Amino acid sequence: MHELGLLTSVVAAVEKATAQTDAPIEVVGLRVGTMSGAVPEALQGSWPIATAGTRLTTARLEIEVVTAQILCTACGLTQEIDEFYALTCPACGVGCGNLIHGREFEVAYAELATGT
Ligand SMILES: [Zn+2]
Repeated sequence: MHELGLLTSVVAAVEKATAQTDAPIEVVGLRVGTMSGAVPEALQGSWPIATAGTRLTTARLEIEVVTAQILCTACGLTQEIDEFYALTCPACGVGCGNLIHGREFEVAYAELATGT
């Protein structure tokens, strides 16, 4: 599954970034663009599989969806687009490949459990 491969990379990145501490990881936040090709529901579904046997096995996955936006070179407006518009400006209808948001697939944050 596509999402499982993506999450395996996420798990590895978070483990590396938090290697300095023994604290359990409580929450991992992902920023996922609507045109990244990753489906949030599938990511959630794959999360338990991707984290099994890792330090992230008890961590919760939070997904922040980033709406795709283009900066239209024809009319100069920044427009949110959905997949049905492809890369066509909703305001002026000009096809434009200037996608400024929407392809994000990155770790936004990882929260450690804080000891009392
Ligand atoms: Zn336009």
